[in-house]
Amino acid sequence: MHFETLAIHAGRHLDPSTGAVIPPIHLSTTFWRDPWQTLAGASLPNYTYTREGNPTRVALEQALAQLEGGSAAAVFASGSAATLSILQTLSCGDQVLLPQDVYYGTFKIAQGILARWGLEVERVDMTDLQQVAAALRPHTRLVWIETPSNPMLKVTDIAAIAELAHRHGARCVCDNTWATPLLQRPLEWGVDWVVHSTTKYLNGHSDVLGGVVITAAPEPESDPGWQTLRQIQSNGGAVPSPFECWLTLRGLQTLPYRMRGHCQNALELAYFLQAHPAVEAVHYPGLPDHPGHALARTQMKAFGGMLSFQVRGGRPEALQVASQLKLFTHATSLGGPESLIEHRASIEGPDSGTPDNLLRVSVGLEHPEDLIADLKRGLEVLGGQS
Ligand SMILES: *Cc1c(COP(=O)(O)O)cnc(C)c1O
Repeated sequence: MHFETLAIHAGRHLDPSTGAVIPPIHLSTTFWRDPWQTLAGASLPNYTYTREGNPTRVALEQALAQLEGGSAAAVFASGSAATLSILQTLSCGDQVLLPQDVYYGTFKIAQGILARWGLEVERVDMTDLQQVAAALRPHTRLVWIETPSNPMLKVTDIAAIAELAHRHGARCVCDNTWATPLLQRPLEWGVDWVVHSTTKYLNGHSDVLGGVVITAAPEPESDPGWQTLRQIQSNGGAVPSPFECWLTLRGLQTLPYRMRGHCQNALELAYFLQAHPAVEAVHYPGLPDHPGHALARTQMKAFGGMLSFQVRGGRPEALQVASQLKLFTHATSLGGPESLIEHRASIEGPDSGTPDNLLRVSVGLEHPEDLIADLKRGLEVLGGQS
């Protein structure tokens, strides 16, 4: 089945008790267990308690696993809970390799929380294969990819990193939040697990926080790593509510059509910004002169809805531009229908490596001409005419 069809049908079926076309939300936290079957020593039914499993959550997990081309998925209460859970499958003394340009929360979880529990955290430039090879140690258990990266839009060679990781017996995980399974399919390039913040494009409407891990293991329930992740999910309990699962399932249905709009708009904006005299640099892998463009062409179907640009000047100039815009809201996050712009260094804090003149844009689904007109007006504050 094609992606568009899967997005609408995966994880969904007619409700057998009512014939409802739209699946119900199962709010029940607890489920009947037949005492006679319990007496007869039967194993537990599919559902017993919602922390461990819930029909609405399972529907979302099935849909996400199918869309990403994996064998199973585990959803979490946020992308960060998914990231923490992945890192918690590691043990004291294990090493994890993180990209230098990684979602800052991922680094904070690894370094700020798990380093105290004995996790060794090393950061490398994932776009430099030699650097990655040199950083791999016998106790490296996990290599983390994020591509395109946040906020510099660097492109990492997924297949090459996965192969390097496997040669050293390490698991390879890819944060596919920015690309989505429509544009990039890391499991097909050899990655073991894909992680998403479903808060972003997958739900797509800026109204649900969520995360997911998807595995490629042919028999996930007998894979020790996946079993540990499942245990962290069900015993740790950082799970989304049934209503959040239902909303995310609803958002998923339009993912392919939303992504097309995001990609088209982003490319138009990138060309506009690149030609503007008040703009020093544009980071968007869809631009032919982007250093990751050729690689992105091989491993992505299109280049996504995220871009960042550096204005001529510093922090005041960047924030001045943001203050002039009417259609772009100065706010964090991404993946909703509304365009957002963000001065990234100020949210990442004092140890951020992000340039001070950089603005990150989540290109929304408004008409591109309106977006460009707004940016044009905003950039006039810096004096340059386009
Ligand atoms: C937002 C984001 C996360 C964190 O997800 P939350 O749902 O906010 O916890 C992780 N990775 C990337 C690339 C993100 O954009």
